[in-house]
Amino acid sequence: MTDVLAQVAIIGGGPAGLIAAETLIEQGVSVNLYERMPSVGRKFLIAGKGGLNLTHSEPFPEFLKKYGERETELTPYLTKFGPTQIQQWAKQYGINTFIGTSGRVFPVGMKAAPLLYAWKTRLIELGVTFLFRHEWTGFAPDGSLIFKHGDQTLIKKYQAVLFAMGGASWSRTGSKGDWVPIFEAAGIKVDPFKPSNCGFDVLWTDHFKSKFDGNPLKTIQVGLIDAKGELIQKKGEFIVTNAGLEGSLIYALSAKIRSGIEQNGQTTIYLDLLPDLSTEELFQRLSKERGKRSFSSFLEKTTGLNGVKLGLLWEFIPREDLANPEKCAQAIKHLPITLTTPHPLEEAISSAGGVDFEEMDDRLMLKKIPGVFCAGEMLDWEAPTGGYLITACFATGVAAANGILSRLKHQ
Ligand SMILES: Cc1cc2nc3c(=O)[nH]c(=O)nc-3n(C[C@H](O)[C@H](O)[C@H](O)COP(=O)(O)OP(=O)(O)OC[C@H]3O[C@@H](n4cnc5c(N)ncnc54)[C@H](O)[C@@H]3O)c2cc1C
Repeated sequence: MTDVLAQVAIIGGGPAGLIAAETLIEQGVSVNLYERMPSVGRKFLIAGKGGLNLTHSEPFPEFLKKYGERETELTPYLTKFGPTQIQQWAKQYGINTFIGTSGRVFPVGMKAAPLLYAWKTRLIELGVTFLFRHEWTGFAPDGSLIFKHGDQTLIKKYQAVLFAMGGASWSRTGSKGDWVPIFEAAGIKVDPFKPSNCGFDVLWTDHFKSKFDGNPLKTIQVGLIDAKGELIQKKGEFIVTNAGLEGSLIYALSAKIRSGIEQNGQTTIYLDLLPDLSTEELFQRLSKERGKRSFSSFLEKTTGLNGVKLGLLWEFIPREDLANPEKCAQAIKHLPITLTTPHPLEEAISSAGGVDFEEMDDRLMLKKIPGVFCAGEMLDWEAPTGGYLITACFATGVAAANGILSRLKHQ
């Protein structure tokens, strides 16, 4: 027996689902929010552990560029609900934001928990019904939703449905990507999930690994040639690990590194270990008389390089080349490191891939299943860390909710 219930069902209680619930209930639409886990916002909470980066303060045109190949598709949604709106939204929950040195925007206090608590409390007050431990498992033949709840199977029908089930990394937060086969069986094209904002393997020697695992590399520039043959250069920092390289600068380039590996089996990045010194200046310094000093201490004294930066030179450049001032200066400014494999999807901060934008109209409704909308990380876009992920989840959640509102009005 199929129950006809509240007007809208939202599947998934991450930022995309929660902001959609808020948008709908504020317009008087009753919302049932289904969540497979015993609570909502688990990935949002994890995101808050290292400091919840809500959005970014750079000029809007620059901000939009961070969505790469999906800039065009996401621009209308981010224009309606973007960096400014997300900060105003946080403020209504009593959470002020501040801009960090890199332009990233954080809530004062950095944590996600106070914001999530205030948000959930208000949604309950407004009348959103949360159904925890309810896992959506598929569509019934008449299009109704099938849920598993303990050992019960429930079949529910709604006037509109929003799927906001997330990507496929950090599956312990509930976003497992296991909805993909169900969507594909319904004829919806889903681009395979791939790790995004992830680390990459490097074949270090055992000596280098044992000495430098966990060492940060600061004030560094990375260059790489992308698939279009363009040179991309970025300054920042990252960490050397046993397996390879991790951290914000590598994450920012992860889409390009990954696609290079897909095409050529590996991607070479070029490190500028001293971006504030020119090759010429280095050459002059390295051409000085060494005297009785060991080569290592001469290198350290003349260039200021030490620790892991010096370790990288020894790891990749033959000793005789380091003894040659011209070659050594060139190596310091352009040190090649080959990255072989992205770290597993499970460990990645986010996932690339998801529901193809061709499958949805501009309200984010599935063209093949009218009345069914999608939002958040489950759509096929990716962006670097820096607040771009949460902002686009909010933007698409709001857009899908507005799409639902206009559909309900015209029914
Ligand atoms: C370590 C880490 C740090 C991060 N830091 C940041 C940051 O600082 N800034 C930033 O912008 N982004 C950050 N992110 C990314 C950000 O958290 C995600 O992009 C965002 O949470 C995705 O939101 P979403 O609503 O699309 O999906 P999710 O938050 O993944 O929520 C999806 C929900 O759907 C539920 N669900 C899935 N399938 C079903 C089903 N079949 N039935 C019922 N429920 C289901 C899941 O249990 C989950 O609760 C970070 C991510 C990680 C892992």
